[in-house]
Amino acid sequence: MNQMKDDTGLLYAGDELDGDVLHADAPPIFLASAYAMGDLHELVETVDADGYVYNRIANPDRNALGKAISYLENGQKTFVCSSGMAAINLALHTCTKQGDHILANSSLYGETIDLMDNILPRYGIETSYADFTNPDEIRKAIRPNTKVLYTEVISNPLTTLVDLDEVAAVAHGARAVLMVDSTFTTPFVIKPLEHGADLVMHSLTKYFGGHSDLTAGSITYNDPEIGAELRNQYILTGCCADPVSSWLCLRSVRTMGLRVRKQIENAELLSRALLKNPHVRRVNHPSLDTHPQRELAKRMFPHGCGAMLSFSVADDREKINEFLHRLQFVKYLTTLGGLRTSMSHPVSSSHYGVPEEIRLKMGIHEGLLRVSVGTEDIDDLISEFNSALDVFT
Ligand SMILES: *Cc1c(COP(=O)(O)O)cnc(C)c1O
Repeated sequence: MNQMKDDTGLLYAGDELDGDVLHADAPPIFLASAYAMGDLHELVETVDADGYVYNRIANPDRNALGKAISYLENGQKTFVCSSGMAAINLALHTCTKQGDHILANSSLYGETIDLMDNILPRYGIETSYADFTNPDEIRKAIRPNTKVLYTEVISNPLTTLVDLDEVAAVAHGARAVLMVDSTFTTPFVIKPLEHGADLVMHSLTKYFGGHSDLTAGSITYNDPEIGAELRNQYILTGCCADPVSSWLCLRSVRTMGLRVRKQIENAELLSRALLKNPHVRRVNHPSLDTHPQRELAKRMFPHGCGAMLSFSVADDREKINEFLHRLQFVKYLTTLGGLRTSMSHPVSSSHYGVPEEIRLKMGIHEGLLRVSVGTEDIDDLISEFNSALDVFT
């Protein structure tokens, strides 16, 4: 470097790290957009071995996170995407082409329905909906060109369950692929690949991230044929997660079991406490004996039923607002799965665009509130809700 001028030398000085940095107890964040290749042989070898050449194609932080998710989901491989919606787009685009049909559960994350209804038809891909709790209805709705069956495990906000083993049998009988968005459940509640799903997706923004500070998504699979096409589309659509979010998410995954198990336990205890509150008309959580699919919940979720619940109060908007103001630490948020308990109001968020008549038929009324239960002390949580619910007196 001696004979270089500063403007050149400064570009290269300090370029190499001293010592064996890969033994650091926490992984580094690899922000590099590209990796230098010694010669053309190395380039070819690296590309063939799926190595690091260019960030959009592969990044060490993303790969490490992908390995942790594959481990949790008991899958071959995981693609880590820029958001849950990016993962859902990637999955659907990978498994369909012009002229194909998707059969989806009628209760899904709102933006997934918007994607299926408003974007995919532009590419000649049609979606119709069926009640996935009823296998006969699914069988009747399958068409000769049905390539994908798509569902979530627990519906939002009424916590209706889909029997994945049953739906997988129907899907495979029709030579269709079963895709499962398991965001609400997490691998600590169910591992959909073990129940016949071909692809499992997560919005990592929720429980995996867990601290409301990152946006990412994932797809995990076992079939190498699907994997090859996923990889192709992943690279060409440029939907990769950034290295910082991937690093943050990997760090969060290390404590995910501790967080989620506590959240599940809190959700069960809070459900039971709400059931006893005189202002609460109904509580929806699969751990309750009052849940219409309690037996299925016991079979599918031997380790607990997740940390999402909903409950009904009087259909009185003013009182509901008063209730929200009265809460001391629980916040009204349009996300879920974080360490802190949060609430949402389906009528004015997830189901805002659904016509009133259809919405009421679904059981989603003004007084329905959804809770994403956090890791607070359960005594504080129960008294937080009970004291705020006094506004309904
Ligand atoms: C949040 C969410 C998504 C979308 O994830 P983003 O990370 O916001 O893109 C998809 N499905 C479900 C069930 C979700 O809760």
